[in-house]
Amino acid sequence: MKIFTSITQWQAYRSSLQESPLGFVPTMGALHQGHLSLVEASCRQNALTVVSVFINPEQFDESADFEAYPVDHEKDLKQLEDAGVDAVLLPDVTQIYTDDYRFKVTENDFSRRFCGAHRPGHFDGVLTVVMRLLNLVRPDNAYFGEKDYQQLHLIRDMTAAFFMPVNIVACATIRETDGLAMSSRNQHLDEQQRAKAAALYASLKQGPTVDQARQTLAGLGFEIDYVEEIAGRRLAAVRLGNTRLIDNVEI
Ligand code: AMP
Repeated sequence: MKIFTSITQWQAYRSSLQESPLGFVPTMGALHQGHLSLVEASCRQNALTVVSVFINPEQFDESADFEAYPVDHEKDLKQLEDAGVDAVLLPDVTQIYTDDYRFKVTENDFSRRFCGAHRPGHFDGVLTVVMRLLNLVRPDNAYFGEKDYQQLHLIRDMTAAFFMPVNIVACATIRETDGLAMSSRNQHLDEQQRAKAAALYASLKQGPTVDQARQTLAGLGFEIDYVEEIAGRRLAAVRLGNTRLIDNVEI
């Protein structure tokens, strides 16, 4: 497995590649089975798989969340190697933002709702980094999780709007046995919060209406950012202490 910390070296390698199709999985690291399911799908469907591990500061609206974000490159690289990944992009911030974030992608409609209404600038940061990474990697197929449902749709719409020659592949949410969607942030939950966290998925699935799901979650002590429905999907973001959890289910 090749590891690139230098964008220049990555670009030289990318130009030399003959294999196709090329699959790409962008991540922020602290990898778990959710990420690995995307990697496995890419390895199955492509001649070559590239993964990026980059904690994108521009998508964090709270500096404490950015500073506390878990980092374990050694473990991540071992998991990616075992999964059969061909190359990993591990750039630092200055390599990705040579312009100091002077240029960015902004979406003015869907990104203002749901998570965007509670996290100013978040989706600008996400779309901008994904645009940069897709331009660097030039994959045929790029893999994103349904867990981040709003993000997946915004990325799909962005690639269509900018005529980007990439196929966006959606992958199902991977859950713990009690239903909690896997997330790098779950490590921040204490024992009590972790026990409670599974109720997010259960309430979204079982609450007959959005109002009832909201009431159940509030009654259990979740602080609610939103519980909403759109196009046959029920989406929520809640907080347990300092940890923000998101999830969505088909209805
Ligand atoms: P992140 O490292 O959180 O930016 O996530 C990288 C990619 O993995 C995104 O496309 C996420 O939607 C996806 N992902 C994260 N958690 C899960 C999960 N539990 N199931 C499926 N995909 C996930």
